Amino acid sequence: MTKTLIRGRLLSFLRRPEAIDDTASYRYEEDGGLLVENGRIVASGAYAGVRDVAGDADEIDHRPHLILPGLIDTHLHFPQMQVIGSYAANLLEWLNTYTFPEECRFVESEHAARIARHFYDEMIRHGTTTAVAYCSVHKASADAYFAEALKRGMRMIGGKVMMDRNAPQGLLDTPEMGYDETRAVIAEWHGKGRNHVAITPRFAITSTPAQMEMTAALAREFPDLHIQTHLSENHDEIRFTSELYPEAIDYTDVYAKYGLLGRKSLFGHCIHLSEREADAMSEAGAVAVHCPTSNLFLGSGLFPLKSLSRREKPVRIGVATDVGGGTSYSMLKTMDEAYKIQQLLGERLNPFESFYHMTLGNAEALSLADRIGTLEAGTDADFVVLDAAATPAMALKMEVVRSLTDELFLLQTLGDDRAVRETYVAGRPMKAML
Ligand SMILES: [Zn+2]
Repeated sequence: MTKTLIRGRLLSFLRRPEAIDDTASYRYEEDGGLLVENGRIVASGAYAGVRDVAGDADEIDHRPHLILPGLIDTHLHFPQMQVIGSYAANLLEWLNTYTFPEECRFVESEHAARIARHFYDEMIRHGTTTAVAYCSVHKASADAYFAEALKRGMRMIGGKVMMDRNAPQGLLDTPEMGYDETRAVIAEWHGKGRNHVAITPRFAITSTPAQMEMTAALAREFPDLHIQTHLSENHDEIRFTSELYPEAIDYTDVYAKYGLLGRKSLFGHCIHLSEREADAMSEAGAVAVHCPTSNLFLGSGLFPLKSLSRREKPVRIGVATDVGGGTSYSMLKTMDEAYKIQQLLGERLNPFESFYHMTLGNAEALSLADRIGTLEAGTDADFVVLDAAATPAMALKMEVVRSLTDELFLLQTLGDDRAVRETYVAGRPMKAML
């Protein structure tokens, strides 16, 4: 396969920034080069040095734009593309009125395949190269999701949802069906191309204890797989969960009792955790996934991102869109809203932290930092080209921007898919092909 040399301004994080002036937390090359071969980054650094080892590589010049690792979205729902922007009072009303009826349609393979095509188009349009999605309860939805990921060569994580109560008949499996179909999805898709299958009980409310036992069995049989579910999003949800699982100390304990609390476990929301729950999450190394646009849209609450990460027992944190509860596919927009939530809590979230979270931070949350979320040599060639002057309003503001800090903050505050000039997946420019 031919080599490609990509030129532009490179920004890649090495670890979580501790402060706005923590320049040791990232690598920035004003005139940088990435040498790509066979879907991998084989050299990365100052352009002059990379060019010296590039031989007869084709060259693509993205100057003056910024090149970052591909953005990562750690929680969203692939069957909710036609649920986004539905007018509901709160989580449970939104689920029952809009979401559950819509997800019923994914029993049809053709519908699932069509929405999967749109789903990946939106990922690419928004610069997201890896996402972690819930499919619907139907195996056909997971088949469509992974088939399309394979076609596009993307590193994607997803799972067939397991749910056997408190939803319409068309959305229910049984403990045995959930187990068998999840095993079938793992056998057919896990490790195929860049696909990762996640064990996916929707949340405690929609699974009986019998189904949770089957989920526990899957987690024991496949200890390397991700597990994804929802936790502590809304007060009515928390109350209902404690009625359904009276023997559990609290909501987190429901999952802990079934062995679902571990380093590969991704818990959507975690807004209202008690100190005990945060300790339990921290001790297990489980990940709290912050979904700001969804939390604001559904009025669920303000996620204590800063206080969870600086406590004595810090909680690992991911960030995500949570489409269709979330209102944008853009990780830039997502961090714009995350910033505002911290403002309301009297906290500051600096732009370096935000861009860390969208890239390396989320890769670390997924235990995949050796492959994605970075521009280091040896990793997957998934990256995004961002233009901070993409719209007239952004271009006007860029006239007075003097620092990388301000440029990143402008991208986060005014940016969306229009700021994404190109999205590379395994070294191939994908946005141009849409
Ligand atoms: Zn969700």
